[in-house]
Amino acid sequence: MKGKNPVSIPKKYQEILFSIGTYAEKLGTKAWIVGGAVRDFYFGRDTLDIDLSFEGNVDPLAGFAVKRWGGSKHKFSQFSTFRVNLTTGLKLDMVRARRESYPRAGVLPEVTPSCIKDDLFRRDFTANSWALSIMPGSFGVSFDPFGAQKDIDAGIIRILHPKSFLDDPTRMCRAVRFAGRFGWKLAPKTEELLKEAVKQQYPLLLSRERLTREFLKINKEKEIKRILEMMRMYGMLQFVYPGLEWHDGLNRVKTVDERLGVMVCSLGKSGEEFLKSMRVKKELAQEILEAWKVSESCHAPLRALTPMQQAIIRAVHPGLKKYALEPCFLRGRDLKELGLAGRRISCALERCCRMQWDGKVSSREDALKIVQVCFGSPNCMGDVPSA
Ligand code: ATP
Ligand code: MG
Repeated sequence: MKGKNPVSIPKKYQEILFSIGTYAEKLGTKAWIVGGAVRDFYFGRDTLDIDLSFEGNVDPLAGFAVKRWGGSKHKFSQFSTFRVNLTTGLKLDMVRARRESYPRAGVLPEVTPSCIKDDLFRRDFTANSWALSIMPGSFGVSFDPFGAQKDIDAGIIRILHPKSFLDDPTRMCRAVRFAGRFGWKLAPKTEELLKEAVKQQYPLLLSRERLTREFLKINKEKEIKRILEMMRMYGMLQFVYPGLEWHDGLNRVKTVDERLGVMVCSLGKSGEEFLKSMRVKKELAQEILEAWKVSESCHAPLRALTPMQQAIIRAVHPGLKKYALEPCFLRGRDLKELGLAGRRISCALERCCRMQWDGKVSSREDALKIVQVCFGSPNCMGDVPSA
């Protein structure tokens, strides 16, 4: 039976949160746990990321937490929010309760300090709009004005107001991400508004940076297949990149970066353009690009590949032979020593890389023999001599 306080705050966080609540009370500020942490506590899942919302100035509270438990605090000046990393491993996102208004669709909101109810109302879905008090007199008491518990019980993602997707189209990605993660459904009205948002192309209102960030969060999810399938069904994947879809290779890699690499390679010719449209770090983009080039060429590489590049290519080309991704067995200098010159060198190298990829040569000796047979006569450009 779910009692008056359906969610319990895990024991290991109680002391810290109670102390923060007590200090907040001293300052005359009300304090709550909000957002995903409450949802996760309700499921009985652990989380190291806790969002706290205060009806008052956050600055002294962030300072208090760092002083008391050690760690660091970082202020995001735009919204006066603090990310506090405590040495205990706990990460606290501390915000002042606020109301939000969107001057234009898809841009960041203007914020005004407000009460906890407004702070819950500005959130993405009912399931993430649930608060637990951390004040000493009401520690752990639930505040659920928008039916979070009911929707979590029913497995429903529901936006809080009809303009939600227009205000912030990243919520379209968040909707399918949470629905996919938990195996939930969209509420009928939410689904209708999502379809309308796709029709009106709301995701185009987002900067490519914000869209990339949201998409990479999807890439991190265990249930990525289910999420991409929902995105395909709702016509959302085209905004990430036309033609992008689930590829079985995504099941064969482990990291988010590798998953991105698999997506790039799975797009064939368009892979490079997709990669360039994703705002990821330059070094990562370069590493994936090199993997894509090898994947597209279907030739063994001339230089050694990194473990990540190998993982990506093997995921996209399962059944690839053992030496396919080793650097080409032969170098230009080997071919010069065999008496080849000019374009015949590049033709021979090309031939060798191809045969290595196909598993037709498995050692340097094999490769040398084949080159001698194919390129043996002075003007031959590598046609295999007839038997
Ligand atoms: P996760 O488990 O992926 O961290 P989360 O629910 O904690 O999920 P966060 O992205 O960490 O999500 O954000 C914390 C909370 O901030 C959310 O639960 C939600 O209440 C609110 N939030 C985050 N992004 C948005 C958004 N785009 N629009 C409205 N509210 C948001
Ligand atoms: Mg979170």
